[in-house]
Formats: sequence, structure tokens, C-alpha cells
Amino acid sequence: MINLLDLDAAGLAAFLADLGEKPFRAKQVSRWLHQRLVDDVGAMTDLSKALREKLAAAAEIRRPAVVSDTTAADGTRKWLLDVGNGNAVETVYIPEDDRGTLCISSQAGCALDCAFCSTGKQGFNRNLTTAEIVGQLWHANRALLADGVTGAWVDQGRAPITNVVMMGMGEPLANYDHVLRALTVFLDDNAYGLSRRRVTLSTSGLVPAIDRLREDCPVALAISLHAGSDPLRDRLVPINRKYPLAALLAACVRYLDRAPRDFVTFEYVMLDGVNDQPEHARELAALVRDIPCKFNLIPWNPFPGAPFRTSPRPRILAFQQMLMDAGFVTTIRRTRGEDIDAACGQLAGRVQDRTRRRFRIHPAPASPVAP
Ligand code: SAH
Ligand code: SF4
Repeated sequence: MINLLDLDAAGLAAFLADLGEKPFRAKQVSRWLHQRLVDDVGAMTDLSKALREKLAAAAEIRRPAVVSDTTAADGTRKWLLDVGNGNAVETVYIPEDDRGTLCISSQAGCALDCAFCSTGKQGFNRNLTTAEIVGQLWHANRALLADGVTGAWVDQGRAPITNVVMMGMGEPLANYDHVLRALTVFLDDNAYGLSRRRVTLSTSGLVPAIDRLREDCPVALAISLHAGSDPLRDRLVPINRKYPLAALLAACVRYLDRAPRDFVTFEYVMLDGVNDQPEHARELAALVRDIPCKFNLIPWNPFPGAPFRTSPRPRILAFQQMLMDAGFVTTIRRTRGEDIDAACGQLAGRVQDRTRRRFRIHPAPASPVAP
């Protein structure tokens, strides 16, 4: 059986051609699937009965099973999805005044092992398939509509999810092919029709893949910088040993001439006494002086066993001020969904524990395998 959520427009056209259908039927099927969000080909009522029967015999619409569904006090909603073998990933809905953002996972676990990240500490299990990535958006829109989600944009007839950030579990550029195909579906006018500016991919800095993305599908780019010098970044973000700052920043500059926005966002997690001192801010400002960029400071979210503390608020504010004085737009990320462990980088650790202890998807979780 083909899972229709695995196919982009070209794949859908090829699949329908195999069934002896005209490729333009792909548009119709895509709209049923991604806009009207049906979960049954039988519901695609403007297709001939014969085609619906052929589709029903050869294809299904299947997203990962939902293990839990929690809503935080601030409206943030988190779904935990079973991706098999004891692995679960999360997708998080973040409502704001004028938009609904979905934070999507790309891998079960992550091999890159950043020192401060609970997903990294979990190790790498496997890449998500296109259907598992697209299925997160499909499911969130569907569940939110079914539950009568409110929001000014929803009242105007837009889908609940207006923005996607590839900032959930995993390193999206380490699962390049599936992530690329999923991005294609997010942008496709016959599917979700999101503009490139409303889709942001966050990466820890896989330089060759940043260059590929620039050619294949340049969406908004966020870089997890976290340090302004190689020795410190080597420690916090180990992939820096392979692609050091000079190479990473050069890739950002190349990316910018194809990017939908004229700046790169640098994410910077604030770790008490580690990367939050005035000299760090000065070093950082000097490092990126010539790059059109914005900073997003992320108060570090603790998880059990991590050897860090979050920088105290006054220090985060002082760091922000120094970057602003140096001429950089600098925001501090508001922590959302903390009471349900949906905040950045909290996604795996505690949740994975809970998955094992409380939900018991499978009795024996698979041990992590190397990529
Ligand atoms: N792998 C990608 C995307 C997922 S992580 C990347 O690293 O960019 C999304 C963001 O959350 C990254 O900037 C990451 O560095 C940050 N993050 C990870 N763990 C965190 C934590 N415990 N607290 C705050 N931010 C964290
Ligand atoms: Fe992987 Fe991103 Fe976590 Fe680093 S911060 S371990 S790249 S998910």
C-alpha cells in the first residue's frame, strides 16, 4: 500500500499515472488530502467511483498514532506520536495573536549530541519518513479544526497552521531527502500553500546540506549558533568540529542570496556562566558583523541530569542589550508550553521517560543505532 502522505505533487502524479489516470487528477487528490484533510479516499467525491475504488485498493492515508495530546495553560498543544519500536516524536502547536505555528520533528532522536539538548542525549533512533513529517501538519490542522480552534486567521477561513518551524526533535538536514519532500508539500499550492517565508528550518550547521537546500528549496533559515568562538562551539555543538564557524558563516552568506528573507536567524541558547558573559556577546557581535542577521536568545530549558543552568534573567537582558547596542535585532524567545514539557529542547528527555514508564507503547524500547 502506498501512503498518500508520503508523496509530493510529482510522486502523486506518477502514482496516478501508474493507475492509468491522467496526471492532473493529482491536483484533485492533493486538495482532498491536504486541504480538506480527508482520511479516506472514499470521501474524495469528485473522483469517479472507479478511481476511488482503484485508490482504495492501492493507497492509504496514514499518520503516526497519537500517544498523548496535551494542552498547556497558554494554549500550546503537544501531540506525542508513536513512530514504532518504542520511539515517539512530538509536534507542538503554538498559537499567537495572528498566526498558528507548528513545531515539527524530523528524526526520532538525534545523532549530533549537542551538550545542552535532551533530544541529543537520547541518541539517534531513525529518520522520520515523509509521511511521518507531513502527517504532523496534516494531523495538527485536522485535530485543531475538529476541536473548534479559534483565532483571527481561522475565522478568515485559513487553516489553523499558518507557519511551520522545523525545530522539533532531530536535525532536519540530517534527514535531507524526506525533509525536502515534506517542505515541497508544505509549499505546494495544491497542498498547504505556505509561503517560503512562513516555513523556517533550524539547523545546527550541516554546511553541505545548507548549500543543497539553497538550490533545492530555500525556506527561511535559522542557525543554532550558541557560541561565537570555535573552542566553545566545539564543546556545545560537536558538529562544529567538522564544519567550523568560518565555513558555517560562509554558507549562511551564500544562502542569503536565495533566501526568502534577507536575514538569517541565529539561535543562541543562554547557559549560565558558559556562553552568557559580556566577552561572549562582544565576540559574537564581531564574528557576525558582516552578516545580515537577527538573534533569538533562548533561555535554556532544563532537563534532568544536564550539567547546565539557565542564565539568570538580568544576564539575558544584558546580553540582549549588548547585541542591540552593536546593531543587531535581538529577541528573547518566550518560553511556551513549559508546563507540558513542550518548550524547546525539552521535547525528548522527560517525555521519552514518560513514554517508557507511563504510556508503554512497546515493552522494550529499541536501542539507539548509529546513523
Ligand atoms: N536540530 C536542529 C533543530 C531542532 S532543535 C537544531 O539544532 O537547530 C531547535 C532549537 O532548540 C535549537 O536551536 C536547539 O539548539 C535548541 N535547544 C535544544 N535544546 C534546548 C534546551 N534544552 N533549551 C533551549 N533550547 C534548546
Ligand atoms: Fe540534534 Fe538540534 Fe538537539 Fe543538537 S540541538 S542534538 S542538532 S536536535
